[in-house]
Amino acid sequence: MSERFHFTLHATDGQARTGTIHTPRGEIRTPAFMPVGTAATVKAMLPESVRATGADILLGNTYHLMLRPGAERIARLGGLHRFMNWDRPILTDSGGFQVMSLAALRKLTEDGVTFSSHIDGSKHMLSPETSMEIQRLLGSDIVMCFDECPALPATEEAVAQSMRLSMRWAQRSRDAFGDRPGHALFGIMQGGVTRDLREESAEALKSIGFDGYAIGGLAVGEGQEAMFGVLDYAPGFLPADKPRYLMGVGKPDDIVGAVQRGVDMMDCVLPSRSGRTGQAWTRRGQVNIKNARHADDPRPLDQDCTCPACTGYSRAYLHHVFRAGEMISGMLLTWHNLHYFQELMEGLRNAITQGRLDDFVADFHAMRAEGDILAL
Ligand SMILES: [Zn+2]
Repeated sequence: MSERFHFTLHATDGQARTGTIHTPRGEIRTPAFMPVGTAATVKAMLPESVRATGADILLGNTYHLMLRPGAERIARLGGLHRFMNWDRPILTDSGGFQVMSLAALRKLTEDGVTFSSHIDGSKHMLSPETSMEIQRLLGSDIVMCFDECPALPATEEAVAQSMRLSMRWAQRSRDAFGDRPGHALFGIMQGGVTRDLREESAEALKSIGFDGYAIGGLAVGEGQEAMFGVLDYAPGFLPADKPRYLMGVGKPDDIVGAVQRGVDMMDCVLPSRSGRTGQAWTRRGQVNIKNARHADDPRPLDQDCTCPACTGYSRAYLHHVFRAGEMISGMLLTWHNLHYFQELMEGLRNAITQGRLDDFVADFHAMRAEGDILAL
């Protein structure tokens, strides 16, 4: 645990960047996609299988883990890494977003949020200080500031007030986090789709000083065009020598567009959630394995994919096990989806290194257009 957390930038292509985040638990190649392990598991996957897809880091959810099994219990059992058998970096969110979207009887004050658990109705409190303590107990490598993400639609005035509250909470998070060598604290930019508010938020965070900076409050229903509109300027407000994390993104074309605009890290439940509902993501677009036309199809999901689902099984088999409700359905499709997302990230990293990102993006869109014509 001697190495300090730091980021090295290797190459840029336009606004896009590729680099390495160094942590005592291992390196994170950027642009990075982080699979989500909500309840201390990436659903349907063993940790070594997640690693085999190429993931360098996982995301854990503070809100879920504090309620079940509890952060103190995880700490007593040796921390989240040991508990879930993943020894590489883990980023935990602050609980702020999920307490506002999942919990009942929420009450927001300057101090924090009191709420009732969606599991058993028990009363809890999340504040910058308690969120830092819970993430410390979990043993998170990258800790996120406690912030508020306003529900949409919201007026510009409401977004501004919420952002300023989050900036006061960012200072309190920084103070409560203290100095923990080898662990990083990321600030979270808010400000909705208003350029001036985004800039004000970035300035506030930079004056506090963080190990990395997240762009929050996007991918919450505003649509891709509005999100890219913000990403056209927001990453440029942040320090070039620190990682930039776009929270909760996304679909493959969202990821490609975000990387083009200078984002280094992303996370999303999409590949694992889709895998459990019979949806596969491929270079040629989405495949709905539920569809009856796959019932007699001896071909793999994607003939060029090297994942276990594609090298060992036909579409007909994947269709059958989904229809039969067999657990292997979610296992194979989740593995394929995570493999595809990580392969996409590797392709983006290589393209940036070689200065041919535009060609890579053109090929990406051409392959998907071809898929549309073939009607996968
Ligand atoms: Zn595959």
